[in-house]
Amino acid sequence: MTRPGPLGLTGFPRHGAAAGLAPLGAAEREELAAAVELLAGKRLAILTGAGLSTDSGIPDYRGPSAVPRSPMTYQQFVGDAALRQRYWARNQLGWKQLRRASPNAGHHAVARLERSALTAGVITQNVDRLHQEAGSENVVDLHGRFDQVVCLQCKSVFSREHIAARLADANPAFAERAAALGPIDQGPDADADLESAELIADFIVSGCEVCGGMLKPDFVFFGENVPAYRVQRAFAIQNDADALVVAGSSLTVMSGLRFPREMVRRGLPVVLINRGETRGDALATLKLDLGVSEALTHLAESLAPHNTTADAAHSALSSPES
Ligand SMILES: [Zn+2]
Repeated sequence: MTRPGPLGLTGFPRHGAAAGLAPLGAAEREELAAAVELLAGKRLAILTGAGLSTDSGIPDYRGPSAVPRSPMTYQQFVGDAALRQRYWARNQLGWKQLRRASPNAGHHAVARLERSALTAGVITQNVDRLHQEAGSENVVDLHGRFDQVVCLQCKSVFSREHIAARLADANPAFAERAAALGPIDQGPDADADLESAELIADFIVSGCEVCGGMLKPDFVFFGENVPAYRVQRAFAIQNDADALVVAGSSLTVMSGLRFPREMVRRGLPVVLINRGETRGDALATLKLDLGVSEALTHLAESLAPHNTTADAAHSALSSPES
């Protein structure tokens, strides 16, 4: 397999602050230089987790800034009508927050690596679709996507938008009554912190319009397995790569941890970027205890410097928060 060689590895660009990121200290530059040296000339698989999207304002279950909470399990969701009702009432308020979120510098850096033909693809544990919005094309949404709903019986897939309209029709006063409660905190996975027992008890949950079956957001709940075809697609990406970068994942769940494990088994390098410990630290060839979007931006600028007019034009158009 032919790969593009390292481009312009002449030290770190001094314009990192152009993307609105804090300038790096000497120790951080040293860590990143080591990562660039390790990754230069390699084809990358990139595995991302919630820590990448916190800079887009999406809360994380884990990590230093996480709010402790116990997410509903798949078994609770399918086994308990009252919990399902609570789930949908909260999701009806929370899902729009994900729709409003925008990709951050880290998502744009990943897309830039792909445009520069330096990646085999992206495997993400996030359901927010921000990689695709940033322009990444070869992405496996390992844990599903927030903007779709699936029928557990006939497997029909609907847009969340469509289901939101059906739920709004079934619950005409819901939005207004929820708004009257004042601001409601947003949680991870399109959850909103609605606690009103009355509002939840009144919420009417829609069934599948094709078969009447139970609907579920099309993402993987705790206690649920990632569908086998998606795992296979993810491994196909990784098998096409000769280095793995894990960005913003604590690797707490096996669905993520198996990827660095497999790379280590193949004797290939694994670079972890995460603030704080991860369950995969012992597997890492190199661990960067850095901000995820900062680190990805600097890696992309070093491994894939702007070298075409098209790339520069794209970056100018999509440069976040500028
Ligand atoms: Zn159905």
